[in-house]
Amino acid sequence: MIHGERKTAAPIRWAMVGGGRGSQIGYIHRSAALRDRHFELVAGAFDLDPERGRAFGAELGLEAGRCYPDHATMFAEEAARPDGIRAVSVATPNNTHYAITKAALEHGLHVVCEKPLCFTTAEALELADLARARGRIVGVTYGYAGHQLIEQASAMVARGDLGEIRLVNLQFAHGFHSEAVELENPATRWRVDPRFAGPSYVLGDVGTHPFYISEVILPHLKVKRLLCARQSFVRSRAPLEDNAVTLMEYDNGAFGTVWSSAVNAGSMHGQKVRITGAKASLEWWDERPNQLSFEVQGEPARILERGMPYLHPEALADDRIGGGHPEGLFEAWSNLYDRFAIAMEASDRGDTARLAALRYPDIAAGVEGVRWVENCVRSADRGGVWVDYE
Ligand code: NAD
Repeated sequence: MIHGERKTAAPIRWAMVGGGRGSQIGYIHRSAALRDRHFELVAGAFDLDPERGRAFGAELGLEAGRCYPDHATMFAEEAARPDGIRAVSVATPNNTHYAITKAALEHGLHVVCEKPLCFTTAEALELADLARARGRIVGVTYGYAGHQLIEQASAMVARGDLGEIRLVNLQFAHGFHSEAVELENPATRWRVDPRFAGPSYVLGDVGTHPFYISEVILPHLKVKRLLCARQSFVRSRAPLEDNAVTLMEYDNGAFGTVWSSAVNAGSMHGQKVRITGAKASLEWWDERPNQLSFEVQGEPARILERGMPYLHPEALADDRIGGGHPEGLFEAWSNLYDRFAIAMEASDRGDTARLAALRYPDIAAGVEGVRWVENCVRSADRGGVWVDYE
């Protein structure tokens, strides 16, 4: 259980690139990183508009001299300070992730980067090589994976509660972009423009989340080949899709589907993970993250509740309040940021045993997300045909 004790020796001096005033995701990064005092926010290049970024940093309580106009100036000036930053989070639009993460690693910083990590698998592997060569951690914010019942699902599958896995049914299908909201909303505008979003919209923006969760629950399953069809129901978004369906064959004979959508009108998030084995199924929805449905064939369905003693120890380790009280996305992100900090400190100490025992969305998870999107796009752009997973 977490009571707020720090699990690291001292807070890590930390900065943000992006995540400025009005951004969608900046506040949850700060809230999660600062919650258990594993990080201390000391610098930032928060905004594309340097003045707005400076004013925002000052309002967050930072020294004026450490609110920088851009990431390059920040990395150079912080490197020259004895008390300079040791880690940075990148919460900017997708097209900047590769260059900012690369520059951060070259300055010897640990990184937390938003998903998708970058545009191509080749770029992602380059970042992975650089992180390995520099001995730095790269965490990727697949934030839903910090929900405790994902650990429970993973433990149940590992202990054989479902039997041989047959079906993997994933979706993240919201309805917020059923119309061309990008005409008014800048945060949607860049998402539907390939110069900023990359080779996909919903596959990278939402589909990668349940795909990563499935990798956590089913680490032994590997995609063998897939077929993806994608559509742009708001036609001005072409060539980027606002809806996509992916079929996947796994190497053990299991079959998977992923529905990624921003045009599922009426749906809030619609993120579901259902895993079906020969004996039983597990189902989890991110809008009800404190409940996991366990359905054994021929028996009444059981709802497992977060924070209850009957759960596996892995699912209780991050409990903050006990069963019955709902925990949510902010707690899930805090759990991940705690693990990022522990990984960064272990890496600084050269503690490979600690690192090996720690599970968090790392650079390998970032690479696999980019690889999955790349394979989906390759299939879709050939007309929706089966392609071997590369
Ligand atoms: P946004 O458009 O709302 O905000 C982007 C912020 O970055 C703004 O403050 C902008 O001024 C700033 N910015 C842009 N370019 C910059 C640069 N070069 N240097 C410094 N600041 C810069 O975008 P958002 O919705 O917050 O998304 C940001 C990233 O987070 C995207 O990669 C997105 O995919 C990801 N995201 C992840 C999740 C998740 O669940 N993990 C959820 C939402 C968004």
